[in-house]
Amino acid sequence: MAPLDRRSFLSLSAGGVACAARGASAAQSDAAAQSDAAAESTSAAESVVPFQTQPSDRIWDLHCHFSGVPGDSVEQRGGQLLEYADRMHVQRLIFFMGWPWSHTPEPAEFRRQNDQVLRALDRWPERMLGFAYLNAAYPEESLAEIERCIHDGPMVGVKLWVGRRCSTEDIDPLIRRCGQLDALVFQHTYLKVAGNLPGESTPQDLAQLAARHPQVPLICGHTGADWTRGIRAVRPFPNISVGISGSDPAAGFVDMAVRELGPERVIYGSDCGGRSFASQLAKVYGAELDDSQRVAILGGNLRRMLRPIMDRKGMSQS
Ligand SMILES: [Zn+2]
Repeated sequence: MAPLDRRSFLSLSAGGVACAARGASAAQSDAAAQSDAAAESTSAAESVVPFQTQPSDRIWDLHCHFSGVPGDSVEQRGGQLLEYADRMHVQRLIFFMGWPWSHTPEPAEFRRQNDQVLRALDRWPERMLGFAYLNAAYPEESLAEIERCIHDGPMVGVKLWVGRRCSTEDIDPLIRRCGQLDALVFQHTYLKVAGNLPGESTPQDLAQLAARHPQVPLICGHTGADWTRGIRAVRPFPNISVGISGSDPAAGFVDMAVRELGPERVIYGSDCGGRSFASQLAKVYGAELDDSQRVAILGGNLRRMLRPIMDRKGMSQS
């Protein structure tokens, strides 16, 4: 059958599951993938869509969790996710947070979750990277965790979730320290129709932080989920890159991000196990990109941003 053009592919894939033809499982499926419409399109897409990830794409996944995956141990959950990752040719996965989750973890709790990630890094040093989970409501303890996990440990970045909005100046010592260590800063951002959680940041909060720390690379997690507004909010701040993970796969998301920010500021990630690799990869494979742009978004940008800290730690990117 003749290859599809991009528009046909997008209408066929509907929920973005075309890439999932060989990769989806009940454990990692999205709400979108569970709809009848998506199920029908999967069988149609399976037979005709020419898009399949390739090892030469060198896919690195910015955003992975052990939550939402079956298993009692880090080894069981990590092994399960790597099985899915292998099907989709995802080479490296950045993990943050353990389980069960906590929106406002006390220091003992974020240390416990970071220990789970450290255990996985010890088990799969060639496949996994880790960011330290912090809570900006505890700046001193979070600084100590940066020292433990990044300066003295193998982690290469931090994850800030919903403990405290990132526009607060209380967070500045953490961001400065990450800058000194070349550690990446991943900040969850969301724009929720019904209102954000207390302490949950928006892309506009991150823009304020970026203005105070123009030399520190920051990653806008989810691009605010409402990506048309998220992209605009961070556009004036070249030190902000957007992570495209963890929202419904929609045509036009990556296209707009590339147009407004440039391909070098757009980073693929999945947010697995809450989201499938396939639905999130479809955002990239369904976009109008040339080969160099696609490879940059799927992993090249992340490798460029991580190179200083990985070099310093003697970690290979191959
Ligand atoms: Zn996440």
